[in-house]
Amino acid sequence: MSAEKTVGGLRCSEVLERLSDYLDGDLTTGEKSKVELHLAGCDECTRFGGEFGAVVTALRRRLGTNEDAPSSAVKRLDDALSEG
Ligand SMILES: [Zn+2]
Repeated sequence: MSAEKTVGGLRCSEVLERLSDYLDGDLTTGEKSKVELHLAGCDECTRFGGEFGAVVTALRRRLGTNEDAPSSAVKRLDDALSEG
């Protein structure tokens, strides 16, 4: 199957690889904005996200898309993004 999309210069698998670094704040500004750009424009990551699915959904919501997200995931995301 090849449902992966390239959005913002990254494939879904590349975004998911970077997601924990993103949440830890370990990405460069450039990489971070690529991840955000991808998530804002990609529905597939919510499916590929696995354990990150809820976080991806929360991210998409923060980025201005209209997805419902469990508040626990949003909180986890807020915590992650406010660290450091
Ligand atoms: Zn994707």
